[in-house]
Amino acid sequence: MLCDSSEKPCCTCNTCRRVLNKTHPDVSYVLPDENKKTGVTGVDSVREITKEASVFPVETRYKVFVFTNAETLTVQAQNALLKLLEDPPETARFILLCENHNTLLETVISRCVVYKTEIFDENVVYNYLRDNYKQENEKIKNAAKRSFGNIGLAISLLNKNKSKLETVCENFLFAISKRDEHEALSSLAVVEKLERADYKEFLGLVTESIRDALVLGSKTGRFTGDDELSKTFSENFSQQDLIKVIGIAENHIMSQNVNVNIAASAWALYVELKEILT
Ligand SMILES: [Zn+2]
Repeated sequence: MLCDSSEKPCCTCNTCRRVLNKTHPDVSYVLPDENKKTGVTGVDSVREITKEASVFPVETRYKVFVFTNAETLTVQAQNALLKLLEDPPETARFILLCENHNTLLETVISRCVVYKTEIFDENVVYNYLRDNYKQENEKIKNAAKRSFGNIGLAISLLNKNKSKLETVCENFLFAISKRDEHEALSSLAVVEKLERADYKEFLGLVTESIRDALVLGSKTGRFTGDDELSKTFSENFSQQDLIKVIGIAENHIMSQNVNVNIAASAWALYVELKEILT
């Protein structure tokens, strides 16, 4: 769309290279709202984009907005987006990426051109990573395995470093599942002292990790989590129990929206999870 060459996309011109490096000033990426790991892309993001889209591009013919996870758009956000898609500024283009376009409103889809992308074989992903990224073979193998044929996901898995909260979440869940009361209580002490935004993110990570274990167990869908934790959980607990755990964590996320005391919520979470996981 922005490439300067006659054979588009050439992937080598200055424009292409900066698009690939995500440094082009006319290409913006729309991510789910910050601090919400269970994250949605809300109506405020769409309003902001509506404003930005009316501004002329800096270098190229178009300003391009890429919704990296269109499935996370709320219905309200999709309705706001609909107005933009119906009557877009001449210099703006929108790309909505999603795994399953049926999760979007029909009215939105009907205003888009739908392209289906290919799912690659694990070996193809592995070879691509090996040729383009200088990382340990074991890490590359792992990322290829967990990407389910999605090269973009494989790259982000390869470059992912564990955050502090991820480590807290992992320790907490492992300790409970291994019935290590001492370790569980010391993890809990860390969780209780989290700020509200971090505690919500922690709860989001709990649901994400368990969801990964479910996915791993059922071998469908995309797998984004930590290998060992998800593997342990998918091997040791029934799908039913895992679904219960997700339900519990989601209830606690909701309780945070009405400002329930964090220490009380964390303790209740611990007791409820212990009941299912031990
Ligand atoms: Zn180019």
